[in-house]
Amino acid sequence: MQQRLEQLPKKAEEKHAENRRFFTKLKKRPPKDLDYTMQNLHNEEFEQTDCLTCANCCKTTGPLFTNTDIGRIAKYFRMKPSKFIDKFLRVDEENDYVLKGVPCTFLGADNYCSIYTVRPKACREFPHTDRKKFHQISNLTLKNVTICPAAFNIVEKMKKTIKF
Ligand code: SF4
Ligand code: SF4
Repeated sequence: MQQRLEQLPKKAEEKHAENRRFFTKLKKRPPKDLDYTMQNLHNEEFEQTDCLTCANCCKTTGPLFTNTDIGRIAKYFRMKPSKFIDKFLRVDEENDYVLKGVPCTFLGADNYCSIYTVRPKACREFPHTDRKKFHQISNLTLKNVTICPAAFNIVEKMKKTIKF
């Protein structure tokens, strides 16, 4: 996995223009069975990729925390939401609550998430490759393939599976 992660930024850079062209076409002409295709590609990839050997998302980009996330996680720590915010979060340029820094403070040395059962929605859904109407998050996916080796592989397989 370490080698995959080291090579990922360069590989993603090399594929960037091709991926951009592909997503432009996908946006214009999303196949009718896109949700089904994505679910299959996502399941197939995560049968092979073990996030516990990676944790690159938790190490390099933090999630945003919705108010519901904050309420749930603060309750888990038996803290007031305002205390939780003061201790762990800051407001970013887009006015969202995000972590004060990365790697995520809740990530253990063993790559386990210490708040796994109550983790933010954004963490549960990352890298969003099984979400419905996948063509609507092209820009986010172009970014995620530079961070997530699974997302990178899924996009590579998408280009082979979906022909225009
Ligand atoms: S979601 Fe992607 S970046 Fe995050 S741990 Fe799994 S493979 Fe790694
Ligand atoms: S909350 Fe958990 S899953 Fe989310 S970034 Fe932190 S360690 Fe990773």
